[in-house]
Amino acid sequence: MNSGLGRFDHVTLAQRVLFGSGDAARHLSLALDGLGARRVMVLGGGHRNGAIAQVLADVPVAVRFADVAQHVPADLVSRAIREAVAGDVDSLVAVGGGSTTGLAKAIALETGLPIVAVPTTYAGSEATDVWGVTTDGHKATGVSSRVLPRAVIYDATLTLSLPVELSTRSGLNAVAHCVDSLWAPRADPINRALAFEALAALDSALRGIVVEPSGLGAREEALYGGYLAAVAFASAGSGLHHKICHTLGGMFDLPHAATHAVVLPYVVAFNEPAAPALVRRIGTVLGADSGQAALDALWSAVEAPASLRELGMPERGVPEAARRIFEAVPPGNPRAVSVTDLERLLAAAWAGEAR
Ligand code: NAD
Repeated sequence: MNSGLGRFDHVTLAQRVLFGSGDAARHLSLALDGLGARRVMVLGGGHRNGAIAQVLADVPVAVRFADVAQHVPADLVSRAIREAVAGDVDSLVAVGGGSTTGLAKAIALETGLPIVAVPTTYAGSEATDVWGVTTDGHKATGVSSRVLPRAVIYDATLTLSLPVELSTRSGLNAVAHCVDSLWAPRADPINRALAFEALAALDSALRGIVVEPSGLGAREEALYGGYLAAVAFASAGSGLHHKICHTLGGMFDLPHAATHAVVLPYVVAFNEPAAPALVRRIGTVLGADSGQAALDALWSAVEAPASLRELGMPERGVPEAARRIFEAVPPGNPRAVSVTDLERLLAAAWAGEAR
């Protein structure tokens, strides 16, 4: 029997998306013309990739700011804002991965400057209104319409220089957006549809990149999947998985994408008894016998890291991490969560135990 779709209140964020391999320079001009941009601050863009250098050829650059650091340190943001003000800029162009987009978002949060994002990884930050800034080891995050890039330029040639491991890690971050969107606080049929389409694209893309890193088709698919995944995530909100990774990342300074890769299968195994149809559908969409089998196969194809231990988390950190995560458990997680559940989950993920 069909159980129906229930009731939902869905918000779609307004953003222009220009997609085309080899078209980034032309698309960037279109996007900047659309904003009436005359004095642009360019963030990032320093990778050794001729295609990236060319993208900026016709941009009216007033300030170039190449310094980018993981987790968006507050002092870097202050320095960038001072340069933006001194340069009297009217718009921001972020050329890089989630760290570069994150810096642009932090500047926009304070100044209201519009952002055009030119992503060079598959993490998807460009499609969300979520920002994060780190002060004295504490990463504050929030949601604001000011930080959502007005336009996103996707050009897979800009990602050809991204090494396979960084490609698959940022792609698994996108897979985590898909899976957490299935049961996050505002999960609904629309963001689930996006999430499943994204999952199929990412599975095929990441396997393709491993086999043929210079293949443009797989990298286009990864950008497409990463974008859809982030749209689903922005709409559905942060689920249990993201709360766990956020807490662990902040407490132990673990690498962002690798932490997602280790933790996700354990969260899926934990939630599965309370959400069997959703997890089964992961398997169906990816052509496997079960959701777990589908993720295991992808994880092994991309040689994902298997334990928090290998990422440098101390085992003694498990009880305190479980306690802090418990405080952040999102409402509506399909399965009730106790501190003991979290301790078990973290201990298993720390050791890389079978699920
Ligand atoms: P990243 O931006 O830190 O980049 C990872 C590495 O790849 C860097 O060394 C960078 O210089 C290099 N790189 C990037 N593009 C390259 C290219 N084309 N060629 C060669 N090297 C390249 O990593 P990421 O995975 O893109 O982003 C992770 C960050 O984004 C985290 O801080 C995470 O919190 C944030 N994030 C935020 C959201 C959000 O919605 N706010 C979503 C996803 C990720």
